[in-house]
Amino acid sequence: MRTLASVSLLALAVTALATGAGNAASSGTPAFVTAQRLADAGKEPGNWMTHGGTYAEQRYADLEQVTSANVGKLGLAWSYDLDTARGQEATPLVIDGVMYTTTAWSKVVALDAATGKPKWTFDPEVDKARGHSACCDVVNRGVAAWNGLLFVGALDGRLIALDAATGKVKWSVQTFDASKPYTITGAPRVVKGKVIIGNGGAELGVRGYVTAYDAMTGQKAWRFYTVPGDPAKGPDGEASDDVLKAKAGDSWFGDFWKAGGGGTVWDAIVYDQELDQLYIGVGNGSPWNRQIRSEDKGDNLFLSSVVALNPNTGKYIWHYQGTPGESWDFTQTQPIVQATLTIDGKPRKVLMQAPKNGFFYVIDRETGKLISAKNFVPQTWATGVDMATGRPIEVPGARYEKAAATVMPSALGAHNWHPMSFSPKTGLVYLPAQEIPMGYETDKSYTYKPGAWNIGISALPLAPPNDRAVTKAIRAMLKGQLVAWDPVKQKEVWRVQYDGPWNGGTLATAGNLVFQGNAKGQFQAFDASTGKTLWGFDAQTGVVAGPVSYRIGTTQYVAVMAGYGGAYPLSIGFPDKVDHMAPNGRVLVFKLGGTAKLPKVDMAPLAPPNPPKDAFTAQQIADGGAIYEGNCGVCHGGGARSSGVLPDLRRSGALTDKDQWQAIVHDGLLKENGMVAFSSWFNKDQIEAVRAYVGVQAKYLASESAPGGK
Ligand code: CA
Repeated sequence: MRTLASVSLLALAVTALATGAGNAASSGTPAFVTAQRLADAGKEPGNWMTHGGTYAEQRYADLEQVTSANVGKLGLAWSYDLDTARGQEATPLVIDGVMYTTTAWSKVVALDAATGKPKWTFDPEVDKARGHSACCDVVNRGVAAWNGLLFVGALDGRLIALDAATGKVKWSVQTFDASKPYTITGAPRVVKGKVIIGNGGAELGVRGYVTAYDAMTGQKAWRFYTVPGDPAKGPDGEASDDVLKAKAGDSWFGDFWKAGGGGTVWDAIVYDQELDQLYIGVGNGSPWNRQIRSEDKGDNLFLSSVVALNPNTGKYIWHYQGTPGESWDFTQTQPIVQATLTIDGKPRKVLMQAPKNGFFYVIDRETGKLISAKNFVPQTWATGVDMATGRPIEVPGARYEKAAATVMPSALGAHNWHPMSFSPKTGLVYLPAQEIPMGYETDKSYTYKPGAWNIGISALPLAPPNDRAVTKAIRAMLKGQLVAWDPVKQKEVWRVQYDGPWNGGTLATAGNLVFQGNAKGQFQAFDASTGKTLWGFDAQTGVVAGPVSYRIGTTQYVAVMAGYGGAYPLSIGFPDKVDHMAPNGRVLVFKLGGTAKLPKVDMAPLAPPNPPKDAFTAQQIADGGAIYEGNCGVCHGGGARSSGVLPDLRRSGALTDKDQWQAIVHDGLLKENGMVAFSSWFNKDQIEAVRAYVGVQAKYLASESAPGGK
């Protein structure tokens, strides 16, 4: 007996050492996050130790100092100014009194979570030229923590481990072939000592995958490719080989591998601690257009799917594909939330996801079987989901196979990456939804251009006509909502209607509150049961990120990254009235009775329109328009209309200087700012044609700005 007891005690001691659970090993070691602490994250509501709060990623803060009764007294506790006006999409982690967050260009900052005092900053010094490969801004969505280390995925493909105490690099590993247009914007996750990271790039032409690395050494553990590679090259020697051969290979046709096929895993990577499974959200095809990608045939597995993997080996378990034969940029990378819901009287372990295609899915985590699906915004591409097969019932013509089609939702999604939350108290999901239709037309002159945009659509269809009435009418169609959704009944319970899309992620709290920022710069609290607006704060810039809540001592804090950016603000040709450049982003932190004042930001004024006097031909303007809308508009705005995040080219001094224009666009004079040389894809005549097109837009702007032009 005595021996047995000793052995048991020894085993307990070893376990405690290995996990560091509540013992001396954790004290004094910053971000000492262990397997046990992550598994029990729900028991530490004062911390926010992993991307979605806990492994279930419900983004629910079990803190109730701030309630629907007293939220009116919420005030600013502190703010921290960031050094960039590019998009702020990160979810901060808060561990034992320290906040770790990321900002554009993959920079990391550690702040005292009670005061905002910086502890250290880390700049991976990403080559700004990589910004050209980023479809949707040079953003970063956050870090992961483990055992005194922090992990950040840099835009250029490095997965970097930092000492959480100092911000010094412990190890760094290149996760993709840097000669290809991959990027990383997503937050890594740590599961049982492995760091898991994916990538983006499916607009430009890449093959998607996720990789697991040993958290302490950076050594690769496994890789799972989401789509097949070039059949001539044989298997990859990776965890995905068997299932790609058995299930995916027959679902692709033609020379699908030439542009990579797509299927990048750029956001949702979620661990199921109850079933020891990993769920990855898989993105769109490369190119978008299945007619070009796969002879317009086949489901093209595992595009636009949730795939369950064994986290230890990377082996396939099951998948559910929401958009078979994806052809609209309908990614299924959107945030995945896990819960146990009572459905038909029985508890079911489910995952919930509201991907770009507009359906809210409830999926059985044990089997991957679809439990229910319902559209949460109006949509025109499918009339519903066939519950016998789990497949969408497509509307004929929506694939624009014979003629151009206007489709809703669109590439910007009925819901994009902006995190949704779930409150176990109300049983509701709080979803930042949006309505953005888009025209799709096959690019008849498509050729694969390595490293450039390769979507197979004739031109980015967000270019507005130079007609005030039409622009106004289209602008009015673009909407955004905060939707409270009952996932059991698959129906809306309440909504907050905004007059535009691209609003912030959500946080639900035990105080019966939902927090959300919006594109117009208001950070607000709503009653979780009724949707009543209870509190608001002027953030002085658009808020798109997801908020978090944490506790230090007895004080509950609510934090959010403020800063406008991402795909919609960059690409949309229908911005609201813009009278200044976007200001730098900030970290904003609130508490009851907070009295800090947010300093007024300096709004950089806009230069006047600068139309060139040159006499361009109609052909030049038309050619320039096709090139601009297919390559430039995605960052500088459709119709060259900037929302203020990136420079408005209609106001550029270089627009009236032919040589300067060539020096920037052809030769890469401003590559330090992320504006690479376009000489690999376009000659000087083509680049001059782009100047002709932007010149026309500048003239139109000047006519609008002139007295009597409004
Ligand atoms: Ca995409």
